[in-house]
Amino acid sequence: MDEMRLGDVIDDHCIKCRRVTNHSIVSLVDGQAAKVRCRTCYHDHDYRHEQAPPSKKELKKLEAEAQAAAAAAEGDQTSEQPVSETEKAASG
Ligand SMILES: [Zn+2]
Repeated sequence: MDEMRLGDVIDDHCIKCRRVTNHSIVSLVDGQAAKVRCRTCYHDHDYRHEQAPPSKKELKKLEAEAQAAAAAAEGDQTSEQPVSETEKAASG
C-alpha cells in the first residue's frame, strides 16, 4: 500500500461506534489518510490509525491512581471532619 486515494475504504476506530469499522478517506495529507468518515454512522474524524481513544480501562487506571494519591494525602491528615448533612430543605 504505497498510496491512498480519496474515497478509499480503510479500517479505523470509530468513536461513535466504539469499534473498528470501515471508513472512507475524506482528506489526504502527503498521500496518507488525514480524515476519514465512518461508513456505519457517517461520523467524520481524524484518522486514528485504528487506535482506540482512552478506554474505560484506561480511565479506571487513571482513577485508581488519583484515588491512591488522594488516599496518601488523606493519610497525612490526623482527623477527618464529619460531613454535616443538615441541608436546608427548600419549603414554601
Ligand atoms: Zn461510526
